[in-house]
This record gives sequence, structure tokens and C-alpha cells, in this order.
Amino acid sequence: MAAVATLAIEDAIEQVEDPRWTVMARLAAARFGVRSFRPGQRELIEAVLTGHDALGVLPTGGGKSLTYQLPSLVLGKPTVVVSPLIALMKDQCDHMWRAHVDAAELDSTLSADEERQTNAEIRAGEHPLVYVTPERLASDACIEMLRVRGVGLIAVDEAHCVSQWGHDFRPAYLAIAQAAEKLGRPPILALTATATAETANDIAEELQLRNPVIVRKSVVRPNLAFEVRRTVNEMAKCAALEELVEEEPGAGIVYVATVKMADTLFAWLSAARVPVARYHAQMSADAREESRARFMNGNVRVMVATKAFGMGIDKPDIRFVVHYQFPDSIESYYQEAGRAGRDGKPARCVLFYRLEDKRVQTYFLAGRYPRRADIEKVCAALASAPASARARAMSLDELVAATGVGERRVQTIAAEWARLRATREGERERDGDGEGEGEGERERDRENVVDALASSFAARRDRDARKLNAMMHYAQGSVCRARALIAYFGEDGGAECGRCDVCRDGGARG
Ligand code: ADP
Ligand code: MG
Repeated sequence: MAAVATLAIEDAIEQVEDPRWTVMARLAAARFGVRSFRPGQRELIEAVLTGHDALGVLPTGGGKSLTYQLPSLVLGKPTVVVSPLIALMKDQCDHMWRAHVDAAELDSTLSADEERQTNAEIRAGEHPLVYVTPERLASDACIEMLRVRGVGLIAVDEAHCVSQWGHDFRPAYLAIAQAAEKLGRPPILALTATATAETANDIAEELQLRNPVIVRKSVVRPNLAFEVRRTVNEMAKCAALEELVEEEPGAGIVYVATVKMADTLFAWLSAARVPVARYHAQMSADAREESRARFMNGNVRVMVATKAFGMGIDKPDIRFVVHYQFPDSIESYYQEAGRAGRDGKPARCVLFYRLEDKRVQTYFLAGRYPRRADIEKVCAALASAPASARARAMSLDELVAATGVGERRVQTIAAEWARLRATREGERERDGDGEGEGEGERERDRENVVDALASSFAARRDRDARKLNAMMHYAQGSVCRARALIAYFGEDGGAECGRCDVCRDGGARG
């Protein structure tokens, strides 16, 4: 009897809008012009407002930003948004200013004066939203400044960056969890558009989320037509690309895996009189910006680019995304291909495929993680540093100079080392030992650390190899492409899409 009564009350509560939520809905309407919430937004906003950690996997354009922008207005202490790209931060800040939200950004483009000014404003508590790069957040000066007012929420945008260890991986992502601790561990909200269950776990682990509320919405994009084109040799591939670019009149991106290939295709398409721009990490910042602007404004129709291009590119009318070479995983593929058709109109996603293409990615994979010899050198340098240097952590330059290991590797090893050390110190504190260690014990400890680092990198390498294989499997598969992709992200694919090459060919292929 009691159970029935309880149920009735819960039903009744469901019927009436929660008054606190009504306040938030009014605020969203007044400040951001939002009439109704999109799937997942409410769950995430409620989670952070009640002090929970949360992880949101919502599709591109799904409105992830609102899930921290809205809470920032009511949390009382500033919300810190960790964003990987300066261009993204600037866009969002402009957007916030238009909504009369006084957002600040801290990045390397500020002049010394601007930075001093912004710092003073943050200390004075003038900004409910503070955008930072992960590198900035890793610095002690930034932490000290943010501690003055405290932090109400840390939002990690594009959180898959935490778990994607490609060539553009930024070790500063590994330091976010530590920064959160130093800031009194406010709730953390992690947001991404693409994550398998495994990646989601990885994000939660790297950021050390505590019982996060996980909100996942469908990644299905019904307007995209996926296609795999097998080609026999490079000439045939190039010709097929030219043909495709000619038959598709709209804007498009052609992704390649290497800078060299970007230059080659750029020259080829230019010679074929296709209005084309290029974008890769070896161009100067100015040249990249010019390319980006020309593509965004529609001055050129086609962009040939490495994966350096695209995050935060909010061009709604991209009609095709071609992968001329293999991406490293289905996550990368879906993210890059998904930049097509954000306006909801039909768009094509074509993967060009030759068996040989896997070699490029296998080659990248082999060099992605530090080797044991490098790990030993860096750990030895860290251990032999004078106590004062250790206390503030040796600088990257000092470590590079002391070991002769490349900067990126040093950074990766040092970040992982710091994380491991933090975990161990936590364990020691709990176990109450760690006092009066002898030299022998320290030596053994260092060996353990080297082992732990080596095995953690080995595990990452294995996982990356599995991801690359899944990508190969997709290319070689003979089932509906959209279903295959969706299944990879752990969703039940439902009916066949009817638009991909497999569906169009009636599933009959060899
Ligand atoms: P994401 O980061 O998930 O790709 P954004 O946060 O950039 O997406 O939001 C995409 C667009 O949708 C923005 O222009 C944003 O203002 C708008 N938007 C977000 N939520 C809503 C909503 N509930 N109603 C209407 N527009 C919204
Ligand atoms: Mg976003």
C-alpha cells in the first residue's frame, strides 16, 4: 500500500515542473534565447548544479557548450572551461559577450598588458566564465590566480583529447586532474561528440571523475551517406578524387594523413583548376589562418588538410568529406567525416582505401609512444635532480638538455610520471609510510616506476593498434556503413541506412 502511495506522489511530481528547473529554463531563454532544451542538456546541467561530476557524449552541434555556460551564471564561483583551441575559445567568448556574459580567456595570444589586466579581473571575481588552454591550467601561476575566488566547475570541452594520443597529443591534458585537486576539486564536466564506452571510461579515468553522471545521446546522422572506394593504385586514386570533386559542386574537405600528401594533392587539384586551399601543421600560423578564412568564406571550395584542420570548424554547408588516406581510428573518422552536413542537408563521406594505406598509420603508431630507453633516461634525470628542482618539477628544457630525448617524449613521460607519483603519494599517505627511505629502496622504487610507465605506454599502443584494425575492418566490411559505424559506438543500429554504398549496391559485394 505504501509503495503505491509513493509511486503516486512521484507521478504527481513528474507532472509539475520542478520550480528550480523553471528558473534555469527562464534564465536560458532570457540570456541565450533557448526555448527548449536539446536531448541530454538538462541531465548534464542538473548534474553539475547538484555538485556531481558528469560526462556528456552529445553529437556535434548538440549544444554541449550550454551545459556549462548556463550553470556558470548561478554557481557563484567562476566556471573554468578547458578548451584545446584558441580559435574555439575566441568564438565562444564573443558568443558569451553577445549574451552579456563577461567571459575571459587566457591564452598565449594575449599581450603582457592584456594578461595582467585579465588576471586582475579574474582575481577580482569579475568573470563567471574563464576559458583556458590545458597548458595554461597546468601552470602554478594560473592555479594561484584561480584559487583567489575558487572555482565552481571545471568543464573540459572536446574531452576526447584526453584519451587520443595521436601525433598532436598534448600532455598537458594529463595534468587537468591534478589542477582540479589544487583548486579544491570542484565538479568536473567532460564533454565530447564521439566516444565509445572504452574511450568514455578512459576519459573518466584520466580526469579522475568521481561517480560521474554519464549522459550519452545517439550519434546517428541521418543525412550523411557513407561510402568506401577501393582503388588499385595512386594514379587511379587521384583521378577518382578529381572526378568526385568535380561531380560534387559544394564545399568539401579532403583529409590526408601526411603533410607531404597534403602538398601533393594541393598541387594536383590546383593544376586541375579546382579552387583549393591547404592546411597542415607545418604551415605558418598566418598561412593557416588565411587558408581557413578562405575556405570558411567560400572563396575556395575545397580544403586539403591533415587532421590539424577541423576542430571547432563550424561551417554548416560542407557537402562532402573525403578521406584520401586512412585515419587512425573510427573515432577520428567519424569526427572528421561528421563535419559534413551540419545543416542537416544531404552530404557525402567517402573513404578512399588501398590496403597499403594502413602502413602510414602503422608507422605513426610505432613512433607514438616513448621507448623504454627514453623512459629510463627521463626517470633517472628526474630522480637525480636536486631536491629544489624536483619540488617545482624540472622544467621541460632542463629535462631535454639532461637526457637528449625529444621534447614531446619528455613531456609525455614527465606528465605520466607526475600522475603516477601523485597516485603513489596518495597511497603512501593512506598507508602512513614513506618516511626515511634508504637509497636501495629509492632505486627499487625508480625501477618500479620505469616498469609502470613502460607498461602503461604498451597498453596504450595495443589499444591504438586495435583501433586502427577496427578502421581497416570498416573499410573492408560488407554491411551497411552507417550501421557499422553506429555499432562501433555501442548503439543498436536499427534499420539499414539505404544511402551508403553497400545499401545502394544491395549488399552484394565481394
Ligand atoms: P556542440 O559543442 O555540442 O557541437 P554548441 O554548443 O556549439 O554545440 O551548440 C551548437 C549551436 O546550437 C549553438 O549555436 C548554440 O547556441 C545552439 N544551441 C545550443 N543549445 C540550444 C537549444 N537548447 N536550443 C537552441 N539552440 C541551441
Ligand atoms: Mg563544442
